[in-house]
Amino acid sequence: MASLSTRIVIRATNRELDIPTGLFINNEFVPSADSPNDLIHLVNPATEETICSVAAGSAKDIDIAVAAARNAFNTTWGKNVTGFERSKLLNKLADLIERDQDILAEVESLNNGKPFKIARDFDIGDTIQCLRYYAGWADKITGQTIEVDNKTKLAFTRHDPIGVCGQIIPWNYPINMWAWKVGPALACGCTIVMKPSELTPLTALMLSKLIAEAGFPPGVVNTIPSLGSVGGAALSAHMDVDKVAFTGSTVTGRKIMEAAAKSNLKKVSLELGGKSPQLVFESADLEQAANWACLGVLYNTGQDCTAGSRLYVQDTIYDKFVSLLVSKAKELVIGDGFDEKSGGGPLVSKTQFDKVWRYIESGRAQGAKVALGGQKRPGKGFFVDPTIFTDINANMDIVRDEIFGPVLAVGRFKTEEEGISLANDTSYGLGAGLHSNDASQCMRVSSALEAGTVWVNQYNLLNNNVPFGGKKQSGIGRELGSYALDEYTSVKAIHWNFGEKLD
Ligand code: NAD
Repeated sequence: MASLSTRIVIRATNRELDIPTGLFINNEFVPSADSPNDLIHLVNPATEETICSVAAGSAKDIDIAVAAARNAFNTTWGKNVTGFERSKLLNKLADLIERDQDILAEVESLNNGKPFKIARDFDIGDTIQCLRYYAGWADKITGQTIEVDNKTKLAFTRHDPIGVCGQIIPWNYPINMWAWKVGPALACGCTIVMKPSELTPLTALMLSKLIAEAGFPPGVVNTIPSLGSVGGAALSAHMDVDKVAFTGSTVTGRKIMEAAAKSNLKKVSLELGGKSPQLVFESADLEQAANWACLGVLYNTGQDCTAGSRLYVQDTIYDKFVSLLVSKAKELVIGDGFDEKSGGGPLVSKTQFDKVWRYIESGRAQGAKVALGGQKRPGKGFFVDPTIFTDINANMDIVRDEIFGPVLAVGRFKTEEEGISLANDTSYGLGAGLHSNDASQCMRVSSALEAGTVWVNQYNLLNNNVPFGGKKQSGIGRELGSYALDEYTSVKAIHWNFGEKLD
């Protein structure tokens, strides 16, 4: 039977840690109700060694967690808790994460592979800010007073918490994605059943422990590690879940929408994949554009939904820019996340590793030229070095599909119109970037690019104040900023008659 916690040793830091490995329901770690022997085995992607195993929740466990969340929503949380109290608890949670940032970052690095320092300074740093940002909103969520008829009637709206939320998150930013979903949901007064990725559930379990320590009432946040086809599917199809928020692949996003449609028509928000373009115009600061382009596709070893994985360069600067780009991409060290020199870690799993290699091989087979990388490394670990393809065409798989690895396809364009048309030639619409020193061009092109986020003379930077989400097949709804509050509230209109009499 699964134990409820396990001791792991992080060799790189000599730290021994007791990590929760059960299901988190009503502020306690418990075994699965009906499948206590089912386990999810976790692998360190840098060494391919087993880290530990966690409980694999079943559909019945999802039912139990949803019931706990519903009970909390109707009693201690939902409309029974003030915004001030929600704000206080969110701030307390952020303080606890700040206190534990080193151990959280170590476990994130161990489980996901990303460099420890990046996990601590960026993923966790941003998580703390995100929770504080939504703590700031919790007591400021208001409706409107609306004039209907000055003499006899008034209407007003209430922004009620939507209810019990299923939240299904991926493995590329396990802590960040947790905060992006938990922060606004709790600020609005919702309760949560969280299903972390089966590849990276450890930090979500550690954060669950902090939920209890912060003083959130039992049942407000519940965490069920589970396979997607089991726990994720059960949450999406559940008749007593009011909303499901998802980040992951477009394929899974479709399944979730279908399950929502076939069950109770729960509200759905989807943050899906992308094949985001970047355009480099001849007026750009080429040195800077190359820096941002590298960050755009190589950050998190390319396992990034906004990865700028298609780059189109104006033909007058093409050769110069490509050699600059290659020389900068070469500088990135992909290595063990606990090695100080590593700017990027391994891919998260053997499945991702094999998938990325299939694309690298298809790029070659379909006639693209390798300008950098493309060689397998010997030894253990799911490492893939930065790989840049040139001489691409629009039909190649490396140009059309989301790869989710450090693989860049570089093409060229002559005119602004051609650049925009190449950039928009995709079924996705998550991110896009442009590099130019012509302000009018920046305005024209940013307005023409079909994406939920457009970066001008930078790439991949986000801010908790600013909404994030996709167009086309990259998703529905927005996370972050005040926009995320709309995803977790339900607007009720109240019509009040203080004068009109019916005969
Ligand atoms: P995925 O979409 O299968 O997994 C994401 C989450 O969805 C996980 O928690 C998973 O357990 C859950 N899930 C899986 N099947 C489900 C179902 N039927 N119902 C409900 N939930 C389900 O992604 P993956 O297989 O881990 O990765 C595959 C590809 O997805 C990647 O190669 C990448 O292209 C893309 N991806 C995108 C993002 C993103 O941020 N947009 C994140 C992760 C993966």
